Amino acid sequence: MIHSLRLLPLLAVLLLPGCALFEEGAGLSDFRTVVLDPGHGGYDHGAKAVRGLDEKMLTLDVARRVKPLLEARGYHVVMTRTTDVFIPLGGRTGISNAHPDAAFVSIHCNWANRRSANGVEAYYFNPRSAPLAANILREIAGCYGSHSRGVKFARYYVLHHNERPATLLEIGFISNGKENASLQDPAVRQRIAEKVAVGISKIHGGHAPALGS
Ligand SMILES: [Zn+2]
Repeated sequence: MIHSLRLLPLLAVLLLPGCALFEEGAGLSDFRTVVLDPGHGGYDHGAKAVRGLDEKMLTLDVARRVKPLLEARGYHVVMTRTTDVFIPLGGRTGISNAHPDAAFVSIHCNWANRRSANGVEAYYFNPRSAPLAANILREIAGCYGSHSRGVKFARYYVLHHNERPATLLEIGFISNGKENASLQDPAVRQRIAEKVAVGISKIHGGHAPALGS
């Protein structure tokens, strides 16, 4: 009996679609904090590059490059990790959910058995996050010659357990020789970082909204 009573709030959350996501009235464009989440880290290398740095190092490098670009646009930026450490997925969403004014952007590199697979993509879980994903994807597509694979729905943990607008970016395939060669180039990672910053700030016309607005 006690157990079932304890389950009631959980059931309510599970049965009411969307009630755990986004407070009513809080719009997608209300964020001033950006939580940057470089995928993987520590013993979790993520995808293995056909040559050079693995996914965990590439994602960290891109996120580190995005941070000052967003700060220059007036955003408060929080990184889920700044070094090569492992952060559990729940720790990552916990950081996002602790910031009521946040949007969450996770950065990953793709991998496929089929070596010819290539391109960039952006994922969302809550449909209200789709415009954030689309804005960033539109910017990063083609920025180093890689085509857009589209904005896609996925039940990834860091999206699905996120109460903030959230997207997960796949910035290219490190199983593909050509894309990997690009992603291993710091100049290309800087270009991607600039496009990610432009895409995130697009909804605000390029600059974080003023406090109190
Ligand atoms: Zn990944």
